Order: sequence, then C-alpha cells, then structure tokens
Amino acid sequence: MQLISVKDVELSNKKTLIRCDFNVPQDEFGNISDDRRIKSVIPTIRYCLDQGAKIILASHLGRPKEVNNKYSLEPVAKRLERLLTNIEVIMAKNVIGNDTKELAANLKHGQILLLENLRFEKGETKNDENLAKDLASMCDVYVNDAFGVCHRAHASVEAITKFVKVSCAGFLLQKEFNFGQQLLKSAARPFVAVVGGSKVSGKLQALHNLLPKIDKLIIGGGMAFTFLKAQGFNIGNSIVEEELIEDAKQIIANAKELGVKLYLPVDVIAAQSFSNDSVIKKVSVQEIPNGWMGLDIGPASSILFKEVLNDAQTIWWNGPMGVFEMEKFSKGSLKMSHYISDSYATSVAGGGDTADVINRAGDADDFSFISTGGGASLELIEGKELPAIKPLILKDEFE
Ligand code: AMP
Repeated sequence: MQLISVKDVELSNKKTLIRCDFNVPQDEFGNISDDRRIKSVIPTIRYCLDQGAKIILASHLGRPKEVNNKYSLEPVAKRLERLLTNIEVIMAKNVIGNDTKELAANLKHGQILLLENLRFEKGETKNDENLAKDLASMCDVYVNDAFGVCHRAHASVEAITKFVKVSCAGFLLQKEFNFGQQLLKSAARPFVAVVGGSKVSGKLQALHNLLPKIDKLIIGGGMAFTFLKAQGFNIGNSIVEEELIEDAKQIIANAKELGVKLYLPVDVIAAQSFSNDSVIKKVSVQEIPNGWMGLDIGPASSILFKEVLNDAQTIWWNGPMGVFEMEKFSKGSLKMSHYISDSYATSVAGGGDTADVINRAGDADDFSFISTGGGASLELIEGKELPAIKPLILKDEFE
C-alpha cells in the first residue's frame, strides 16, 4: 500500500494548503521549548516552494475550546520564518473568514500564509463539513503532513479531502506510513519489540497485533508489573492494572504458543515514594519488599535486554523502561536508548516519552526513524485504518 505523494502532483502556481502538526510544547513564558515538529515539516514546505506552489499552512496547537491568545500560532510563525530564511510568513488573524481568504487569494511567491489555530474553530474536532469546505475553498491542492492527528477524523485532515480537487501526503506522513507498513508487513527478522511506559491498557491492542509478527518481546516500565503479578511475583506497591492481569496471562500464553520469547525485568530500582529524593534499593523481582515500588528496571535487566537485542534485525520501541523524568529512575531507559541506537538493526521508536528519552540520551541521529505521533503511531502498529490516511491511499489497479 502506498500513499499519493506530493511528488505525484502538479504544484506550479497552485494554491497549496499543507496541514502540519505544529503542536509544539511551550514554556511558562510562551517560548517554544522544542521545535522538532516544525523542523520535521520543512522538507515538504521547501519542496512545494521549489515547485512554485503558493503555500498556506494550517495546524492546531494545544486543545483550546474557543479563541484563546495563549494558543495562538504567532510564535510558530516567527520560528518558521527564521528556519526558512528569505521567506515571509504572514500570520492570519483567524482560520477562515473574509480577511483570511483575501490573504490566501493574494499570496505571492516567496510568501507563506499561516492560518490561526484550527482548534479556534469548533467544527475542527467535529469533522464539520462546512469548515472543511471553507478550508478547501482557499486551495487547489491539499497536502497532509500532520501524522500526529491522522488517527482522528477532524475537519482539516478527513472531511477536507472530500472537497479539494487533489489530496496527497507530504514527506513526513509518507515516512511514518512506510515505516509502520514495513514493521507490520516486511520487517527483517529477528524482530524485537520493546515496550514500556506506565500502562498495559494503552498498548494491549498493539501487543496483540504484533505478537504473530515478532520473534522476541521485551516488556519494561510500569506495565511490566502487571505481567510480573500475573506470574505470581509480589510486586509491593508498584503500579499495576489488576483488571488486566488476565489479559497479561493471555499474552504470556499466546507468546508461548507462537514461539515468541518474552522477557520481563529480573531486577528493579525500588523506592518507597514517587520522588527523586527517595532512598532507593536495587532488588531482584523475587525480593521487592512490601511498601516499596519498582520505578526503573535494574542493572541485571539492562544487561539481559542488551543480550536479547544482540541479534535483532528490526527493533520497535515504544515506552520508557522507568520513570525517566526523575534522574534516579532514568538509567534503564537511557541504557535502552544506547543499546538500540548502537545496534545495526532497523530501529523505529514511537511515542512522545520515548522520543524524549532518545533525545536526552543524545541518540536521535542513530535511530532509523523516530515517529512524531504518539497515538497515531500506536494505532498504525495496532493495524487500524487511520481515518485521515485512508483518503490518501493510492488505488492500485492490480490490487
Ligand atoms: P505511557 O504514557 O503509558 O507510555 O507511560 C509513560 C510514563 O510511564 C512515563 O511518564 C514514565 O514516568 C511512566 N513509568 C515508566 N515506568 C514506570 C514505573 N515503573 N512506575 C510508574 N510509572 C512509570
């Protein structure tokens, strides 16, 4: 399966609306604290500029329910102008409306129009067709490069495709889609999945879909305790989803049946309170004391997991191995990042926390691909059809 690429479309002199994901984090002063999401769309923007397109950009930022200056895309416009150099980025005062349409109609080459935050329009999250028509009326070509929202049927990513003449995918979206497809359909074996994070619930579906496709499964982070409890270990006060113990048992049984080797932590870094100042203990999973909770995998688990990754040809990683936000409990996650980035396997990471760990570890350049979408990348791995990607799938006459 392939997506209709922006490369397949005539762009010269065409008004081209690119849906981006500029949902960047900001500090308490409103400064952009991480502009990776802006940078990741620049190849598509530059390509469209080079083809002579007149560009309109649209994005959401945060989750405002109505117009709220705190969520204006103004800081994004400024950053974008600096990143693009020699391009004037004009900030529209609103998303649609006559002023904005006039700006769009009069765009010149060398200028880019950035619409205000799409979520200022109530219709955006309702997949409202009137909003979609208004957005579509401003452009000849629609390019979706906002993978992070593709699991949602929103007006600017789903309904809009019904009203524009040409819809296609930008380079970031194509990369995300292709890596997801490769993992599910043609991953080189041995294929190792490494999952972590706080909850089994968020990753249950992905685990079920992946099991028949992988050779080994490493489970770390808080979710490992539901599996350890399912195996009869005393996990003290560690995080657990009691209602999912049966599901955990099922996954353990399925893995066995399918010949998938399942690895859980053999030791943990435990503390009595959820704090960086707490006294810590390194204990084996057989010896977690009552009243203590495991907040990171221990050194023996790290060594074990490194060995498990040794012969991998493909690695998919989603979720930290511990509470990496606190320095005392970050070692297991940072080591995992180093092991995966050092390997010669095709390495794909997903989820915002995992990307943060990899960046903190300084390993980003050594991963094959780091997904920009949390929920969207999980749904792709779950094998679901993403509503905003469906209209962009290239229909192959031989399919
Ligand atoms: P998720 O959103 O499910 O991927 O979980 C990410 C969160 O899991 C991070 O904020 C981590 O701090 C947290 N986490 C990882 N390991 C543990 C653990 N052992 N106990 C509690 N929280 C954890």
